[in-house]
Amino acid sequence: MIGQKILEVFSEAACEHNQAKSEKDRKKGCTKVATPGAAAGGCAFDGAKIALSPIVDAVHLVHGPIACEGNSWDNRSALSSGSRLYRTAFTTDMSEMDIVYGGEKHLFKAIRQIRERTNPPAIFLYQTCVPAIIGDDIESVAKAASETFGLPVIPVNAPGFAGGKNLGNKLAGEALLDYVIGTEEPESTTSTDLNIIGEYNLSGELWQVKPLLERLGVRVSACISGDARYREVASSHRARAAMLVCSKAMINVARKMEERYGIPWFEGSFYGISDMSASLRNIARLLVERGAPADLIERTESLIATEEKEAWAAIEPFRPGLSGKRALLITGGVKSWSVVSALMEAGLVVVGTSVKKSTEKDRERIAELMGEDAHIIDTMTPREMYRMLRDAEADILMAGGRSQFVALKAKVPFLDVNQERRFAYAGYKGMVTMVSEIHRTLTNPIFRTLRDPAPWDPGCRITPLV
Ligand code: SF4
Repeated sequence: MIGQKILEVFSEAACEHNQAKSEKDRKKGCTKVATPGAAAGGCAFDGAKIALSPIVDAVHLVHGPIACEGNSWDNRSALSSGSRLYRTAFTTDMSEMDIVYGGEKHLFKAIRQIRERTNPPAIFLYQTCVPAIIGDDIESVAKAASETFGLPVIPVNAPGFAGGKNLGNKLAGEALLDYVIGTEEPESTTSTDLNIIGEYNLSGELWQVKPLLERLGVRVSACISGDARYREVASSHRARAAMLVCSKAMINVARKMEERYGIPWFEGSFYGISDMSASLRNIARLLVERGAPADLIERTESLIATEEKEAWAAIEPFRPGLSGKRALLITGGVKSWSVVSALMEAGLVVVGTSVKKSTEKDRERIAELMGEDAHIIDTMTPREMYRMLRDAEADILMAGGRSQFVALKAKVPFLDVNQERRFAYAGYKGMVTMVSEIHRTLTNPIFRTLRDPAPWDPGCRITPLV
């Protein structure tokens, strides 16, 4: 079953990365195996949990040894506007006895206990390596528990050894398509119902976009999965249009929802002023094509004009300090081009951007933005990153938390733009926040002090007290 699902995901029709491969390579899937001890980027289970845990009112139960949940619990800043159940760690904490006798009974008991104590609208049940290896059948347990307790129990079959984080994202999407989407009906529908797919509300980014949509009269029927409620996702098949935010993570959900329910979609970004405006225009266009009032397009243009004007006015004071500063961007996926475009709008020069997790389309967009001579980085070792920063080839490193120590060692300013970031960078307000954070980081006096000679070395600016 899992093998079949993986094959299906690897031949995803809308994924250009897979379509570019030969038939033989597609069958092989992603055979790159992480090196033990140097593994970074999470396993398939981690990817599945990241994609679904922002469904905030559901229970996320991990079937496996305690370390699987212990290591992945609450490591992203996906925020909730209500229920906090998603932040409670539930695990079967498998022991040696479970491994010898099988963990299915233990798992069933855990579901009963969760239902009695929390009475959630649904339980997502995650498979991990150990129970998958000993043959625990989580699909059967989920089915039996659903029937016994009259509660949706959704098996998410993405054990860590199946592959990397991105595969886990897609397998989580498959679980939604197989067991959740289309299982409930919404209380009401409107001609402006929109799904947002692949947005996780990290640091509250969705909340910087949703008010703008509300001002246009666009209703977000479901965000899959940032700040989502189970019921919203279950009834999301009635939306009129969809926007796919992170191109690689849940492309299968967008494509299959179009195939099954006729929901047209486009891929867009909320990062940067022009990309945000382009996304709003696309949303309006798709909704009008599906029956929304025609004046939505005009109202969208008027909102864009007001918001852009305000955002540029707020950015203006920072521009002299940022103009010409060189940024090295080590991120991935859709951010490899959407953040590039945001940085260029702010007057920075992007000296390199990584495309490790990007699609062909992402690469084309980077080339469009930065020109054919763009420094596109496939993989960059920490040693090479350190060399670049030490040799002053960049003024700031913008990357994920794991790279911060390289920047600090090279005494170069660092800004976290990945999932652990503390600030919301989406939408017009987010762009202003990003620019002000880059400015604050670049002008932080600590970096000058760090680069100065030590008090006991010649050339130190500090006068000794004695
Ligand atoms: S699912 Fe497997 S690879 Fe992932 S954390 Fe658990 S044991 Fe490790």
